[in-house]
Amino acid sequence: MPLQLKIVQAGEPVLRQRARELTPAEIRSTEIQQLIALMQQTMLAAPGVGLAAPQIGESLQIAVMQDRPEYTQDVAPELLAEQERAPTPLQVIINPKLTLLETEGSREFFEGCLSLGGFIGIVPRALAVTVECLNEHGEPTTIKARGWHARILQHEIDHLFGILNIDRTKSRSFMTIENYMKHWRGKSIEHICGELHI
Ligand code: ZN
Repeated sequence: MPLQLKIVQAGEPVLRQRARELTPAEIRSTEIQQLIALMQQTMLAAPGVGLAAPQIGESLQIAVMQDRPEYTQDVAPELLAEQERAPTPLQVIINPKLTLLETEGSREFFEGCLSLGGFIGIVPRALAVTVECLNEHGEPTTIKARGWHARILQHEIDHLFGILNIDRTKSRSFMTIENYMKHWRGKSIEHICGELHI
């Protein structure tokens, strides 16, 4: 049984703070390397496609991400195509600088958060982004992403600046995952927005 950290829920002050940056030397320290490993295990156990350090109570600019093939095996291929969602390898981003590629426009899909357990809502996100950051070795790296991968990056980077996805959610679409599965799953976002008078 892997070690897991507790994922804090909305209302914890740390989720609303701007997390601090780390130096490359700090990143390479045993303490931070262990924290990154624990974050990966916690994300996997949740399960989730991303986890930011504030979500486990640490106000540090670190996030881990991985969209594993098994997470989407039961999702309709049409929806995956619409979301531009494909498996992505494990990534660690530290001290990220996010650039939204505005020419690509935005996309609206339901999105959840491990710190808002049990709820989802429609969140508009930029289709494509560039992220400049440090990796788990403290080395500068640039990530270019689009579709669902770009969405995950925007969501996790928001966490590092005290923003939760509820801040960007179309409030009339906010619902329990249980009710989403019961009433809305499989319907197009356009149809759902019509039904919800959004
Ligand atoms: Zn989240």
